Parts: sequence; C-alpha cells; structure tokens
Amino acid sequence: MSNTITLTRKERDCLVLIGDNAASDFPLRLVEVANSLGIKSPTALNLVKRLVSKGMLLREHGMLVLSAEGKEEYGRIIESHRVIETMMTRNGVDLADACRLSCNLDFIIDETAVNSIFNQLGKPKSCPHGKKIEVI
Ligand SMILES: [Zn+2]
Repeated sequence: MSNTITLTRKERDCLVLIGDNAASDFPLRLVEVANSLGIKSPTALNLVKRLVSKGMLLREHGMLVLSAEGKEEYGRIIESHRVIETMMTRNGVDLADACRLSCNLDFIIDETAVNSIFNQLGKPKSCPHGKKIEVI
C-alpha cells in the first residue's frame, strides 16, 4: 500500500510517542506530549492539530489516541525503523547511532525499499534491541 500523507519529523515523533503509549491504560494528554517531546504546550497543540487534520489522531475528552490510519502509519514507521537499524548495525554502525539515525529515515522511506532491505537481510525476526519485526 502506498502512503501519500507525509509527516514532518516532529509529527513522526508525536505519532510514535502516542503509538508507543497505546498499550498503557492511560492515554496521553497534551501536556504529557509537550513534556515528552520537550516542546511548549502551544507548539504541541499545533502538532496535535496537524495530526488530527491528517487523519492520524483523535482527541477524545482531552486524551490523544491514534485513529485506524494513525495505527497503520505507526506500524509502518516501527517496522521501517527496526529494519533500517538492523541493516546499519549489521554493517558496523553503533546501535545507539543506528537507532538515532533510523528515526530520520523510518517515516520517509517507502515500503518497497524497506521490504527489499528486509529480504536482503534474510528476513530478521527482531531488531538489534530484540524487538519483534512485524512484516506488514
Ligand atoms: Zn531503535
């Protein structure tokens, strides 16, 4: 499936933060997003509004949850992230650097490229952090 909505790096960070928190019983609020991302509340509000307008995020009684589309996008980003950092660490890049650099690419790279890299790597089951790579 092709992805036509482009995210900025900050939007990506916000989406991943909310997606990572989805398993918790406590959905994030705006103030927590601002604190976690190290930005001011008005900036966080703009970020949230942009993600809502892109159909990725829902605001329910002050709580922030990913829409179905946002969950899909989150899954793609996480998969790409893990594949890219696996590729880098297998080629001698330090894990912390690979993880940091992967954040710059995981929301931009297209799925075809990720799948090619994944296959070339021999379909790894997990990333260097030991987290599962889900094939989308
Ligand atoms: Zn990582």
